[in-house]
Formats: sequence, structure tokens, C-alpha cells
Amino acid sequence: MIRDQAGRDIIDCLSCAGALPLGHHHPEITEVLVRFIQSGQLHQALDLTTPAKFEFVQKLFGLLPAEFASRARIQFCSPSGSDGIEAALKLVRFATRRHPVIAFHGAYHGMTAGALAAMGNLGPKSAPMRFDGVHFAPYPYRYRCPFGTDGSATDRLSIDYLRNLLSDPESGVPQPAAVVVEVVQGEGGCIPASDDWLRELRTLTRQHDIPLVLDEVQTGLGRTGSMFAFERAGIVPDVLVLSKALGGGFPLAAVVYDESLDVWPRGMHAGTFRGNQIAMVAGKATMDIVQRDRLDAQAEEIGGLLAQDLRQLASRHPEFGDIRGRGLMLGVEIVRPGDHPDAGAQDGGLAKAIKQAAFENGLLIETGGRHGAVLRFLPPLILTRRDVGAIVDRLDAAVMQAKQ
Ligand code: PMP
Repeated sequence: MIRDQAGRDIIDCLSCAGALPLGHHHPEITEVLVRFIQSGQLHQALDLTTPAKFEFVQKLFGLLPAEFASRARIQFCSPSGSDGIEAALKLVRFATRRHPVIAFHGAYHGMTAGALAAMGNLGPKSAPMRFDGVHFAPYPYRYRCPFGTDGSATDRLSIDYLRNLLSDPESGVPQPAAVVVEVVQGEGGCIPASDDWLRELRTLTRQHDIPLVLDEVQTGLGRTGSMFAFERAGIVPDVLVLSKALGGGFPLAAVVYDESLDVWPRGMHAGTFRGNQIAMVAGKATMDIVQRDRLDAQAEEIGGLLAQDLRQLASRHPEFGDIRGRGLMLGVEIVRPGDHPDAGAQDGGLAKAIKQAAFENGLLIETGGRHGAVLRFLPPLILTRRDVGAIVDRLDAAVMQAKQ
């Protein structure tokens, strides 16, 4: 909950784009941080091994599947998801001695040059820069499949497209250094990939000896109902990029990768604030609490309730075209209703109006996806049943207001 200067309460259903899994000012995090600062330990430590860093890494590796963690290395980055992606792309390019990468339609990996090259949205790419070496494949967006199919047929066509791209000697696409993908697309409109699609992608990348880079900047640490979103599909990545929730509300980013890729010379990735101990202390305490309070399971349960209530609202608001997501990462795609000449088309204007009315009604949400038509819900993982009721009431009022 945020209280503005006029004393108005706003339910924060965005939690800083997922960077605040425990909400604002969690008392335990405050206490741990105050104790740490008063202890006189280093606040910034670059690459020094410190107790705070050691405990952080131990905790993170303990949460990762043993199959991955037992062979994993970690690189801390300048504290943003974008820089984590930069590091991951550099790493795989060193390891494979190849440049091209495959990314997906609708992808969002950050705003720095390398990460931006892998972005699907052309808006932020309109700067006079060159973005070469990225080939885009269709993401399994079941609701609005680019092939005019739906359901699992969408998954199949996406995989077939990739298989052909990788195996046809005349596809025009050179052997890539990596496939980089979000397990659930966030900014692209909250689009989850199915477990089957992820497994097929894993098999395909192994067959072709291509490192699989999973961007879990937004999904990592419990948000989607499991500690890491990839776990549900029973796969492991070669490279995992984490940020947002990783620092428990403080800036932190890291790349965790398989030791076989660790061929880049020392010092190939740096960043002055890569050793921010405050973020590591907050991040470690956050991981402790998420694990202790089973907030991943809670995200699954409460997210299920929120999705259910949103579906109920859809019976009164035909503009709710699709309601989807995982755990507490949910999206509502706003469309023109059935009686409209353009029925089914995305309605970014209405989505924006709903977002604004929601804020006036004390609910902070965001929009994303194509034409900005998807209302996005990324509340903190501590959300309760009672909060769900208040969110849905405020949203309902906002939709009615926006439609007037
Ligand atoms: N990857 C994903 C999946 C993201 O959602 C984001 C941020 N929204 C980024 C990378 C970039 O992170 P940052 O904004 O911290 O650079």
C-alpha cells in the first residue's frame, strides 16, 4: 500500500515492475538492513569475497535446482536486468565464438544496445542505431497467434519454425550463439509459454548445441508460483539472468551460467556497483522470507484467485478479451467487444483509460503488450485474499468509469 501526500491509499499492484516481492518497507528487511549498516561491514565491495556476498550466493544457489547449481558460476553485473542480458550475450558469444542470437516476437530484454537488439517492440528501437545479428522467431502467443491458430497448435508452429530455421542449410540464418527467451513474456503483454513448448525448445537447443539463455529478470524468485519459472517445465537453462526481485528492492543483477561456458577471460564483464552489499543483504533476507513463508505457493494460490475474479469481471466487461498469466504475474488483454465493427482488435486507448481511472480509484497497475492493450498485474507476493477483493472492486469501478 502506498499513501500519497493527500493521505489517499493506493494498492500497489505493480511493486516496481516486480522488484518488491515483499512490498514496500517490509519490517524484517528494514531490520536486517539497519543491523547490517550499523555493523560497519562494507557497503560496496566490487569483487571482494565478503560474508554478505558469500551468504547471498549460497542462498541463491540453494534455491536453484541442484542439477544446475552444482555446475553453475555467477557473474554480478551493473545492477539492471539490461546489463545482466548484456553480460549473458557476451558470455555465450565468447563461449561459442558465434555472434547471432535468436530472440522472440514481443520480447523485452532491456534498453541497452545489446538487449535492445533482442527486443521485439520497434518503438524503442527507432533511435538511429544499428541492431544486427538477432533473428526473431514467433513466441507461442496462443490468444493472438501469428499463424491464425490457437492452443497447442500455436506452440507446434513456433517450434516447427525454429526447427526449420536451425536445420535448413538455406534458411539464411547462421548457427546462433544462443536462444534468449522469457519464460513468461512480461512487458510483451504477460504471455506465458507452455511447459511443453519450453521442453521442446530445450530439446531443440540441445540437439543443435545452442546455449539456452532464460531471462527471468521479471519472473524469478517466486512470482510465477515456483521459485524460478523454468522449474515448472522441468528444464534447466545454460544461462539464467536475474535482477528485479533479486536485490529485495535494491538494485542487483546477476548471470548464473553453466561452467562449460566459462571461457571468457577474467574481467570481461565489470560494473562499478556489481558488489553492492546492501542489495545482497536485502536480497538474501528476501529469499529467506520467500522460502520460509512459501510465498511462491502463495503467489500461485492468490494469483489463481485473482485470475478467477478477473474472469468473473469479464462476464460484465466484454472488453476483457483474454485473462492469462502465472501466479502473481497476470494480464488482461483489452479488446473491442463483440458488437464493435472491429471486434476482437486490441484497444490500447481503453486500456490506458482503465489504468488512469484505476489510479484515481487507488489501484496502481501498468499496461503493456502490442498497442499497450494489456493491463498488467505484478503485485507483491505477500498479497492476501482480502487484497484481491479490494483490487477487483477498484478495477471494476475503473472499467465502468473508463467506458463512459
Ligand atoms: N528482461 C526482462 C524480462 C524485463 O522485464 C526487464 C525489465 N522490465 C529487463 C530485462 C530489463 O531490466 P532493467 O529495466 O532493470 O534494465
